[in-house]
Amino acid sequence: MSERPDVRGEWYKHVRHTGDRNDSGGTGADHIEGGVAANASREADERFMREALKCAKRAYDKGDAPVGAVVVRGGRIIARAYNEREAKQDATLHAEITAIRRACKKVGLWRLNECDLYVTLEPCAMCAGAIVLARMDRVVYGAADPKAGACGTVLNIPAEQALNHHPVVEPGVLRDECAGLLTGFFTMLRNKNAAANGSGE
Ligand SMILES: [Zn+2]
Repeated sequence: MSERPDVRGEWYKHVRHTGDRNDSGGTGADHIEGGVAANASREADERFMREALKCAKRAYDKGDAPVGAVVVRGGRIIARAYNEREAKQDATLHAEITAIRRACKKVGLWRLNECDLYVTLEPCAMCAGAIVLARMDRVVYGAADPKAGACGTVLNIPAEQALNHHPVVEPGVLRDECAGLLTGFFTMLRNKNAAANGSGE
């Protein structure tokens, strides 16, 4: 909007462009701080996190820890994925890795600048590394991971000054729903194991 003061535009550019981006691109409008724009941004973040939650529920149904992820570019979802570590017995099949690989395929480039990753659980070191390598703009996560979170909880890979790209991190979007799904899953597993042990006696 032309009536927006220039000073805010300049401030916004300064804060947002913390990575190695050398283009002046970005969808911009829904990330601007303040008033209506900030509310719209929060609403969009929650809307995309709900889509990541739907992916997480598919992992749950297939017996994997429920973590889901989507990649968003220009306000549209270009990739969806969920954790398949148990289902495929592959230590690298975290939701984020699969979502990034699908997004690269879709865009036809390894470089995913102008893309945001939404994931229900804070990314681990492997996934945070992949997010940096793909030059993603932003990572938005739901629940923090006190054991392996690498976006500020245990490690902080996006903020690591030795690396050459620093995605913006947005924690805690729909935190309770994302954490609740995981807690429910592990409670269900414990009950199942207890029942199996009990019936074996
Ligand atoms: Zn991971």
